[in-house]
Amino acid sequence: MVKDTKFYDLLGVSPSATDSELKKAYRKAALKYHPDKNPSPEAADKFKSLSHAYEVLSDDQKREVYDTYGEEGLSGAGPGGMGGGMGAEDIFAQFFGGGFGMGGGSRGPTRGKDIKHVISCTLEELYKGRTAKLALNKTVLCKECDGRGGKEGKVKTCSTCQGQGMRFITRQMGPMIQRFQTVCDVCKGNGFICDAKDLCQVCKGKRTTNERKILQVHIDPGMKDGQKIVFSGEGDQEPGITPGDVFFIVEEKPHEKFTRKGNDLYYDAEIDLLTALAGGEFAFKHVSGEYIKVTVVPGEVIAPGTTKVIENHGMPVYRHGGNGNLFVKFTVKFPKNNFASESKLKELESILPPRAKVSIPKGAEVDECDLVDYEPYKHQTSGRRDTYDSDDEEGGAGGPGVQCASQ
Ligand SMILES: [Zn+2]
Ligand SMILES: [Zn+2]
Repeated sequence: MVKDTKFYDLLGVSPSATDSELKKAYRKAALKYHPDKNPSPEAADKFKSLSHAYEVLSDDQKREVYDTYGEEGLSGAGPGGMGGGMGAEDIFAQFFGGGFGMGGGSRGPTRGKDIKHVISCTLEELYKGRTAKLALNKTVLCKECDGRGGKEGKVKTCSTCQGQGMRFITRQMGPMIQRFQTVCDVCKGNGFICDAKDLCQVCKGKRTTNERKILQVHIDPGMKDGQKIVFSGEGDQEPGITPGDVFFIVEEKPHEKFTRKGNDLYYDAEIDLLTALAGGEFAFKHVSGEYIKVTVVPGEVIAPGTTKVIENHGMPVYRHGGNGNLFVKFTVKFPKNNFASESKLKELESILPPRAKVSIPKGAEVDECDLVDYEPYKHQTSGRRDTYDSDDEEGGAGGPGVQCASQ
């Protein structure tokens, strides 16, 4: 599969670029094409598209989606999708920690970005709990040089930008004095100065390296959809920032048979008519993995649509012990036409309660009618063109319109 590299190309980096390479590339490009600096419409478009590219690539999850599925993969609000993207100005402001040309300047240690993962679980897994292992590719401070970028004592903080890698420039533009940020030309945005021979051999002066870390995520029994599991400070490390958190959001997969509301479970059971009327047994598999067997005692009648409760057989209550309830809603499977002979059916009259009496007021006109089997094509009159002589209201149920074939 050919990889879509458009976003990387926009920022002028390779698809294997590290987070800090991406940051640097965006910083340079965004400052060059920002509408305040470059008023041409081409620049505005370019600014928008590279901000979007950066927004995607700076988010581990989005970057992964983009690397796997290309730009198309990002359009759907997939699991954990944040909905519509941010505006280019927002990304820019977030990146530089304030509005463009608004002053700003150095701040205290900023906090790194949080990394969010969605962890999809079945109801069975949420019932019993499970441990998931997740391999995380993260940026860490280079262990060889402790994030300095070079040999101890040989690395000096850039005095021009005070180690920020960026500096403010004031420039007169016509009647206006503009103050804007630009990449520090003394240290080339690195924030420090070091002789090439003293640069760290491991990180080549980047101050960070990539590391693969395995996180063990414990899904505890009874956890719910949307619940957060936080690994504090496990986000990417960068010099001068407090790493953000890595967190996992539990996503409950829909179950074929059960639905969950809080700690309660709902199950639709189908029993046969004989069991519904005269008692019997039915069984079904629970999300616990066990089978639930229920005896309907003779004498108890279960009408279609009845809801009964199996107490304490719902989901475990998270960190409290005990369980919610299990609600069972019944449908009754009736026998087919002609399941018994007429004489056998007569016997039902001696068992079942008597038939309800037909009540028609005396003297009312009576129209004797027949029942036929329902055929959607033949019997749905709404949506047809020849409805003028039918009693139907216009519109009807609004189902798929049935059109007349001929005409
Ligand atoms: Zn500098
Ligand atoms: Zn190093």
